[in-house]
Amino acid sequence: MFKITSIVTAALIISSSLSWGQLSADPKTTEVWNKEPIKVNTGKNGSAPSDAIILDHSAWESITGGKNEWNIENGEMTVKPGTKDIRTKNSFGDVQLHLEWKIPTLDDKFIGQDRGNSGVFLQQFYEVQILDSYINKTYNNGQAGSLYKQHIPLVNATKPAKEWQNYDIIYTAPRFGKNGSVISPARMTVIHNGVLIQNNVALMGPTIYIGSPSYKEHGDLPIYLQDHDHKVSYRNIWLREL
Ligand code: MG
Repeated sequence: MFKITSIVTAALIISSSLSWGQLSADPKTTEVWNKEPIKVNTGKNGSAPSDAIILDHSAWESITGGKNEWNIENGEMTVKPGTKDIRTKNSFGDVQLHLEWKIPTLDDKFIGQDRGNSGVFLQQFYEVQILDSYINKTYNNGQAGSLYKQHIPLVNATKPAKEWQNYDIIYTAPRFGKNGSVISPARMTVIHNGVLIQNNVALMGPTIYIGSPSYKEHGDLPIYLQDHDHKVSYRNIWLREL
């Protein structure tokens, strides 16, 4: 009995110290030594890493094609109501986008969608909503962090007005095949103030105000920031092309 127990114990010790792979193969066969990732110097407190494209005020123009007419001061861009949306001068596809935004102090009469409304549109058509959603009832698929009228954020991570907030967005552009057929839809992951609120969700098409969305074929397009009549501010915007 003692002998059998000892043999079983010894077998258990040997098998627990070896993984299945080690029993059958040389570990070197699964090591990858080429395709070394490029070294990137990381930013501090949300500042851009060394391989980012900086989207300061000079990177933007009016959607009319003219000068960016928003207010620019101390590295911040603030919506100048009535001057319309602005867009990047360059077009992009898949990106990692970082931006910081701030809702101004507003009178209590401003409620729902009319309270600190703005938004960031990836490739012109796909909006991540910006709104004062700290204490402000509206339809849930239209609050801050929603992919407008398509995806409700997993949680409400909104800070009060006058505090800087940030979005980190991973955007995958839609892929189109022959005759404009959709091979794969646009996808987004959004982290709001460090909290995951959209987890690689698929979009049904442009984030439109009325009706059911459907895709129309497009290539790379600018990023848009929305003028929705409120003095929402932006700063420290950068992206990395993926
Ligand atoms: Mg909006």
